Amino acid sequence: MAGRVVVPDSMDLGSWIARRAAIIPDHPALTFDGETLTFAEFQRRIDLLAERLVDGGVAHGDRVAYLGPNHSAFLVALFACARAGATFVPLNFRLTGPELAYILDDCGATTLIADASLTGVVDDVRADIDVQRFIAVGGADGWENFDDVLASGVPVADPVFADAEDVAVIMYTSGTTGRPKGAMLTHGNLFWNNINALLSFDTVSTDITYTAAPLFHIGGLNVTTLVTLQKGGHVILSGAFDPTQTLADIEKYRVTTMFGVPAMFLFMSQVPAFVTADLSSLRYLICGGAPVPEPLMRTYADRGVTFAQGYGLTETAPLALVMGIDESEKKIGAAGNRVLPLSNVRLVDATNAEVAPGQPGEICVRGPQVMVGYWDNPGATDAAIDDDGWFHTGDVGREDEDGYVYVIDRVKDMVISGGENVYPAEVESVLYSHPAVAEVAIVGLPDDKWGEAVTAVVATAPGETVTLEELREFAADRLARYKLPLRLEFIDALPRNPSGKVLKFALRDRFGAENTTA
Ligand code: AMP
Repeated sequence: MAGRVVVPDSMDLGSWIARRAAIIPDHPALTFDGETLTFAEFQRRIDLLAERLVDGGVAHGDRVAYLGPNHSAFLVALFACARAGATFVPLNFRLTGPELAYILDDCGATTLIADASLTGVVDDVRADIDVQRFIAVGGADGWENFDDVLASGVPVADPVFADAEDVAVIMYTSGTTGRPKGAMLTHGNLFWNNINALLSFDTVSTDITYTAAPLFHIGGLNVTTLVTLQKGGHVILSGAFDPTQTLADIEKYRVTTMFGVPAMFLFMSQVPAFVTADLSSLRYLICGGAPVPEPLMRTYADRGVTFAQGYGLTETAPLALVMGIDESEKKIGAAGNRVLPLSNVRLVDATNAEVAPGQPGEICVRGPQVMVGYWDNPGATDAAIDDDGWFHTGDVGREDEDGYVYVIDRVKDMVISGGENVYPAEVESVLYSHPAVAEVAIVGLPDDKWGEAVTAVVATAPGETVTLEELREFAADRLARYKLPLRLEFIDALPRNPSGKVLKFALRDRFGAENTTA
């Protein structure tokens, strides 16, 4: 067919488990809540649900949403949607009713599968959504029961084969500004991310990976979970993250890999069980979302455990930069190296020209793992992906002479004060070491004299106080004068989004009214 790239159907997410089930049917694929599914049983459930979805009217490209904490039903539903040619829309289970209604309406989901613990939140907004079919995992009044739906299915004889360009998943990004946007990830995007992961992290079929990070987020879903399954390895799925339980499960299942954000690994290192836990089965841990702090690396190194790291976003499915497991590949504080063969990264200035080495610039990514765009939002897509196919991440980075990229800040959080660019993360990391500071965020507030005033919003530690002068003096040795805060505001606790990112726009709204500095 002219003009069309022919791709093997192994890119089709719907075929991943089926291929393994054909070769290693009795190998454990998924353990959740004490129940282990072999690849054959996992595929049987996928086929049953796929058939029920198609029978219920789900057609190629229709959206099926899933709301709930980690559960085997989540992964059955994901692969069943792919098998049925539908698009899977995972929802953050911490969202409120109106937030869920917004997303369900935006993506036009026709079927919603939800955990029984969350059906009430949905019932409250049922009048505002167009969903036609409601299925509850665990059963709920007014909802079909997930287990009954499976029990009434017949395995699909003729699965729909998806093209690499078909949208497999729409993932709504948490976003620190504005409404969430649905990043459209194709079957090809997920596949190519896995190739990137395999080339960097060395996943093998004997791997047993532990997934406690939420599956609705790209990190939980597509750093180790899908890669391990595609490789024929075993996923131990936890319904929620509990540090002590995680350590016990690592011992019990002889876990070999685990993905998490730094806070998860920090909490694990702080519980008493860490000292005695048998961690000898771990080949490595994979950390994403932020660089692993050096002391945390040392704590785990003392227990014989090493880290691999990744930098990426929902929109890049997620890997864009990595640091592999070899010590020779690591640099403290870096987000990763530009070693991924299927990920091109460059740093650009405000005119979209590449910056000189060592200079800060916006990190841009191009490659087969980059999303095709935001669902039903061509304006946002055009703003994010330029004419040459570079996805603009909104992160400011700096690259060193060896190709390691350090994330400095978010573009939109940068403060321009008296014509100088100030990167809040740099100032925050200095102020965080002040003993009176429990939490601090730096924002730029409109200012008659400076254009924007570097403003420190501080939550003080219990019983402590601090003045603007003290903070400026404290930081003066380590920061250029123009980066020092010109204003200080106090707050009880910083406002954060569900994934823990500080909502800087809320701080700008709250403190932006007064606009002069002394
Ligand atoms: P999300 O789309 O929710 O996965 O968030 C992606 C954002 O997390 C990126 O734009 C970065 O700001 C941040 N991020 C991810 N990985 C790293 C990392 N290794 N180092 C620093 N920031 C990171």
